[in-house]
Amino acid sequence: MLNANPTAQDCIDALGHLVSFDTVSHNSNLALIESVANALSDIGVESRLTHNEEGTKANLWATIGPADRGGIVLSGHTDVVPVENQDWSSDPFVMEERDGLLYGRGTSDMKGFVACAFAHAAQMAKTDLKVPIHLAFSYDEEVGCTGVIDLVEDVSANFPKPLAVIVGEPTMMQIVGGHKGGRSYTTTVRGVDGHSSAPDLGANAIFAAARIVSYLQEVQARLKEQADRESGFSPPYTTVDCGLITGGTAFNIIPAECSFGWGLRSVPGEDTDAIVADIFNFIETQVEPGLKAISPQAGVSHVQRNDLPPFAPDESSPAESLLRHMIGQNRSGRVAYGTEASRFQEVGIPAVVFGPGSIEQAHIPDEFIAIEQIHKCHDFLNDLTRWAASHDRIA
Ligand SMILES: [Zn+2]
Repeated sequence: MLNANPTAQDCIDALGHLVSFDTVSHNSNLALIESVANALSDIGVESRLTHNEEGTKANLWATIGPADRGGIVLSGHTDVVPVENQDWSSDPFVMEERDGLLYGRGTSDMKGFVACAFAHAAQMAKTDLKVPIHLAFSYDEEVGCTGVIDLVEDVSANFPKPLAVIVGEPTMMQIVGGHKGGRSYTTTVRGVDGHSSAPDLGANAIFAAARIVSYLQEVQARLKEQADRESGFSPPYTTVDCGLITGGTAFNIIPAECSFGWGLRSVPGEDTDAIVADIFNFIETQVEPGLKAISPQAGVSHVQRNDLPPFAPDESSPAESLLRHMIGQNRSGRVAYGTEASRFQEVGIPAVVFGPGSIEQAHIPDEFIAIEQIHKCHDFLNDLTRWAASHDRIA
């Protein structure tokens, strides 16, 4: 099935194949992973899977070339975002070409890169590589970059440390060397209900929540003042958001519950723990005592929804050097979205984000990738394979 002399059309065909698996994050990705693992096995490349606890999803790790040394990791997630309540012109899970654009869920984000890497595996396998090329295909990226954590742990514990990882999120084949981190919470205020004519007999959860939300705005103002304008991030400071709030049951009943979702997108070097500790401290000292004075059962609780460290720019990293050398760009950009690059950087594996397609297409109805982008990625993988055959390290 895998062509040892892959053409761009082979990459496109592989993309159509991958798109046909409905790997929305809440579904299993095993059918896709098994299909990839079987095709790799046919060309003599062994896959190593790390499963989630329930055994319903898996990451795939495969090494092409010498296994006694670390190489270049081609990393991509296999899960995609949902299509519910989106108006698609064609079936999101049947790739369709219209005017040089390939439509389908995940074409840009990011089965495009995964398909190109997969389609090139047989060529890599028949080439006498000095630097191995690893495939790292993950699950649950779209829900906080959590699936890949086990893969990274497994690789760190059991294999030589890779030289560099290319995370193929859609950057229009431009080098991205940094992004912000993200942490978010759902906070629930429990008050005490009562008739709104007697406010002192209840504890108004909405009023309490409003004080916390106002405090979040104060924190934001403070962080904005500390902006490092040279950081290259947009905006150049840690941002605080609160995008969801629900509470109360009727206009004349003191609301007993109010919950809201909030979070931080932190620039590298920010002490996120300290910011969160300050917010929690405000809640414990300024908000909770008033609630608890009415009832000891009243109070505020938090559930952390996600936590992704920032991907800190490192202009001297081997991953950046390799990409700059290969594609002749001498600058790297910053992006506003989170990626698995920070999970690799966390354990000391140098990373860049670099892949076909545009992030503007991600997560929207009629997601597409331009065929021209697949051609560029195809050419890049040919170059990378040649590079890995003629170098034994990143110069
Ligand atoms: Zn993505």
